[in-house]
Amino acid sequence: MEGAVGPELILYNGRLHTQDPDSQRASAAAVAHGRFTAVGDDAEVLELAGPQTRCIDLEGRRVLPGLIDAHCHLRSWALSRRRLSLVEAESLEDLRRRVAARAAETEPGAWIVGQGWNETRWQNPEKPTRKDLDAAAPEHPVFLWRSDCHLAVANTRALEAAGIDPETPDPPQGRIDRDESGRPTGVLRELAANCARDVVPVPSEEETVDALREGFGALHRLGLTGVHDHRSMGGSDGQPAFRAYERLRSAGELELRVWMGINGQRLDDAVALGLRSGFGDRYLRVGHVKFFADGSLGARTAWMLEPYEDADDAGMPITPMEEIAEAVRKADAAGLAVAVHGIGTRTNRELVTLFEEQASLNPGRIPHRIEHAQIMRPADVERLSRLPVVASAQPIHVTDDVPLSDVALGDRARFCYPFRHMLDAGVHLAFGSDAPVADPNPFWGMHAAVTRQKRDGTPAGGWYPEQRVSVAEAVWGFTMGAALASGQGADLGTISPGKLADLVVLDRDIFAIEPAGIHKTQVIMTVFDGRVVYEA
Ligand SMILES: [Zn+2]
Repeated sequence: MEGAVGPELILYNGRLHTQDPDSQRASAAAVAHGRFTAVGDDAEVLELAGPQTRCIDLEGRRVLPGLIDAHCHLRSWALSRRRLSLVEAESLEDLRRRVAARAAETEPGAWIVGQGWNETRWQNPEKPTRKDLDAAAPEHPVFLWRSDCHLAVANTRALEAAGIDPETPDPPQGRIDRDESGRPTGVLRELAANCARDVVPVPSEEETVDALREGFGALHRLGLTGVHDHRSMGGSDGQPAFRAYERLRSAGELELRVWMGINGQRLDDAVALGLRSGFGDRYLRVGHVKFFADGSLGARTAWMLEPYEDADDAGMPITPMEEIAEAVRKADAAGLAVAVHGIGTRTNRELVTLFEEQASLNPGRIPHRIEHAQIMRPADVERLSRLPVVASAQPIHVTDDVPLSDVALGDRARFCYPFRHMLDAGVHLAFGSDAPVADPNPFWGMHAAVTRQKRDGTPAGGWYPEQRVSVAEAVWGFTMGAALASGQGADLGTISPGKLADLVVLDRDIFAIEPAGIHKTQVIMTVFDGRVVYEA
């Protein structure tokens, strides 16, 4: 492949974590036409250099395969970077101040959309209400997603725009919180939040393309070269995202490998069109069909085997299981893989049963997956390990959710994020972030999986530390684990001759440092498709 001119790029004098059993100790890699052509020691790879070859000395730095986020919502994340972030809001007062400050610089009447607040991290864990937001921004409709995106709060103007008044009934699968007099408090749960979301003016395709282009740069800085996008084709957010990806793709500007989900409500359309998971090229492919089996722990809508510690019920299924089973059969027969959102113990038990009953699960095909697989009993982990079904998890939630899980579940929180148990049992794990629900920084995710501690070192010793994983296992989840979860193990996930040339060079050796420092890792260089797309 090098021909007379040699490879386009050679990286040498590095410490390559290839994840390839045939070349574990490599220090150099050569690249041509977007693929690795040779991986080995400096002498044997440098020998291939031709007059046109760019040779880069990695100065002994640690190198990983390009990182893949197996669960994110890329368009929302990219657009959210332009919205009001409330991730850092430390109290209700602080949230009000931030909304007021944004209002001061926003044209009256224009929407203020924010996200990321989480009252469980506040000293006084009280949710904001319509009145709080009215006081902060009387001239603007205000709509603020909670960090889990399963609940939002709207002010009076936003409620009016959405047509929500005391007479409005709760929508199916949603709840409008009300005060003693029956007036909406502004808090909108599950699908009730969509009533307000749907009246927020939609960003144009142009804005989406620009936001994504900016977003790619930010992701390269984090070492990410691929994403599985779960805000899916056919959904309100997925259509503009897919169009924007296609535009960027045809302009040669899609500098990220995108695995694009299909909204479950469009299953029949996808089958009728003859779409199959994996269709596309090395940049953009049709992914899994996405279904939701339950809600979230934060909203107490995850479906549990037993009631919550602080509620009378045990959550609820969002879609009846028989409906999901029927959809999985239909999708599977049509060559479409499914990804089902499953949080609670009951949901995950039902999903494992459902997949056990799918006789045609074909090991040669793209695997079905459970998204989150968040709270699972050991017996169900064991059953899952015997299936060709991926658990797609987001380790950063492990530490973000500590107070929430403890309060909602008491000592049943030990069943949350059972990564050690999953790996020991042989469950196929893929790691992601769920951005914008959480930060997309994969080193924060690895840090959480390895330490079960927040970045400030708490709780001491780690939260249920028996579920910690090794650094190598955490890296695997964000590389080969994610690659296999999209059936792209032959092209991605390791630094091997013949694979697509995506890699990332780090400022420190995450295998050698104290795990407490993993979250501080900075990326020195990101190579995507054989090109250097980021250099510190
Ligand atoms: Zn998600």
